[in-house]
Amino acid sequence: MKYKINEVFESLQGEGALTGKPSIFIRFQGCPVGCSWCDTKHTWNVSYENLISNEVFDKKKKILNEWCEMTIAQLLNMFTARSYNSKHVVITGGEPCMYDLTPLCEALEHGGYSCQVETSGTFEINVSVNCWVTLSPKIKMKGGYKVLASSYHKASEIKYPVARGSHISELKNIIEKYRLSYNIIYVQPISMRSKATQLAVKSCIENNWRLSVQLHKYLQID
Ligand code: SF4
Repeated sequence: MKYKINEVFESLQGEGALTGKPSIFIRFQGCPVGCSWCDTKHTWNVSYENLISNEVFDKKKKILNEWCEMTIAQLLNMFTARSYNSKHVVITGGEPCMYDLTPLCEALEHGGYSCQVETSGTFEINVSVNCWVTLSPKIKMKGGYKVLASSYHKASEIKYPVARGSHISELKNIIEKYRLSYNIIYVQPISMRSKATQLAVKSCIENNWRLSVQLHKYLQID
């Protein structure tokens, strides 16, 4: 099996419960969800005009819409060749759950890595049993995709982007509908905007939720 990959890099996890954890990020190409504030719009389209060879991909520095196809073995070899130290792998995108991620997670776990997937929940989440699932439900987005009920049941944490009061109401409805524990709720201000941050802090204090800031953006790291 080959996956469509936009980027592979090592950094710190900047969001949610695992903030601060040294991680290898595998960013998948492709996402039809269409969030207006998306900060990885370059991953949306899978255009074969932008397919590059693994050799060119390996030297790629900037965030571009180019991508390559990689097998699990090629990904693991890349980790070794680049001398990555992290033992945690974040599978992100784009929308990685457009792909069956179970073989990838199982191979990573076999190689001594823990796994995490970051998903909008709009596609079936196919991962290993032990994979940490970060669900960031994207509701009423341009692409018209619905968040699947099964995604809420698989979530290890819910990372909810907020900018206005209606987002808080949506979140409360979700918590009630799917009987989610307040313990797994992380509220994240959209695009670090000041008003969104104030709203997120207030709602966390009022509801016993936790705050997720995009730490990597504050630190100005990848
Ligand atoms: S689901 Fe994620 S990658 Fe896709 S548009 Fe929304 S924020 Fe961007």
